[in-house]
Amino acid sequence: MVRAIVGANWGDEGKGKITDMLGEQSDIIVRFQGGSNAGHTIINDYGKFALHLLPSGVFYQHTTCIIGNGVALNIPYLQKEIDDIVSKGVPKPHILVSDRAQILMPYHIDFDAYEEERLGGKAFGSTKSGIAPFYSDKYAKIGFQVSELFDEDTLVEKVARVAEQKNILLEHMYHKPLIDPKELLETLHEYRDMVAPYVCDTSLYISNALKEGKTVLLEGQLGTLKDPDFGIYPMVTSSSTLAAYGAIGAGIAPYEIKDIITVVKAYSSAVGAGEFVSEIFGEEADELRRRGGDGGEFGATTGRPRRMGWFDAVASRYGVRMQGATEVALTVLDVLGYLDEIPVCVGYEIDGEVTKDFPVTAKLKKAKPVYEVLPGWKEEIRGITKYEDLPENCRKYIEFIEKELGVPVTMVSNGPGRHEIIHRAQA
Ligand code: GDP
Repeated sequence: MVRAIVGANWGDEGKGKITDMLGEQSDIIVRFQGGSNAGHTIINDYGKFALHLLPSGVFYQHTTCIIGNGVALNIPYLQKEIDDIVSKGVPKPHILVSDRAQILMPYHIDFDAYEEERLGGKAFGSTKSGIAPFYSDKYAKIGFQVSELFDEDTLVEKVARVAEQKNILLEHMYHKPLIDPKELLETLHEYRDMVAPYVCDTSLYISNALKEGKTVLLEGQLGTLKDPDFGIYPMVTSSSTLAAYGAIGAGIAPYEIKDIITVVKAYSSAVGAGEFVSEIFGEEADELRRRGGDGGEFGATTGRPRRMGWFDAVASRYGVRMQGATEVALTVLDVLGYLDEIPVCVGYEIDGEVTKDFPVTAKLKKAKPVYEVLPGWKEEIRGITKYEDLPENCRKYIEFIEKELGVPVTMVSNGPGRHEIIHRAQA
């Protein structure tokens, strides 16, 4: 059985915690897209961890963690994350890396920084992890597949060819130091030795495991609104954040994905530039940011303060629809306990007309939020374990969101800890 955990919003919905929780019941956990450009925060018995590339299952000895073919694989970063968790007392995890995954090269990180520098004020707010240059090269067919590290003749030829092309840009467009093909080849030899113990045909491995009745968890990064096709293009990431892509990025049949747990945040937050209709500002935003998440809403990768806003039903309904959500996990609800009243964005006003359907970016730029205000519950809800024990206004807030989403809310997260979750029986 394959389950996916994905985000409905701009990312940072708290997927890490849900993945960690469900990871315990899984045999295999797979990262299928993105790279080290976003982070999951996980709090468990070993401590607090920010994982960027490793799947959240690395804390369990019974799980196999897979870096799928869809991932932007930064090999030294992978090694560093493994060494890091092991140095904090976590037993060495079982990790497999797809032989079809492509390698994030040192120059991808350089090009990311150079391009942001060139764009100046018009920059995309990249995390400078090299993700956009990586996927550009993958689809331009000048990327390096892990398997190619083990084919020396091809590697030597390709390094020379790619360096020549990159050096034209480095010299004439960015005026930066050139790539030395010999040095690059040496780096790739180091990468080969680092990654060699983990490499296999992970698609076949998963296929065999499914035949044996094993449970597989696909772990998504970011959320629907950062998807290159369905997000707020161009302020998106460079690989698909949708559960559908899980089939490709992990190498499994689409019909195997039986359950798509979509994580929805009880308010909104976003990192980086881009459209955000229900955004709030000033003291109102500062207070929500201060109280949000676990110790404030600041980026797990960059430490940047997140932009804050009220729950956006238009964006979230679209977010769960594009994921194909079969169930919703609603997170960080405990954070809202301080509010007398809670605005919820239920429509967008565009050119004098109100819509409930999430539009393309050009229209989104003109959208103004239409709010409905719900009463707050003014109570600490952390520690509550049964749905019925939540304050009435809190249940009303959840049920309002559920109705707007049109998908059952089966889990309510009321604290950052892994056991702080309320399971709700489906009606
Ligand atoms: P992800 O990228 O979707 O995994 O999200 P992050 O892990 O970056 O952000 C979620 C943040 O909220 C982390 O600091 C979590 O520890 C925290 N968190 C997750 N669920 C809850 C919750 O229900 N309540 C509170 N207060 N914090 C939560």
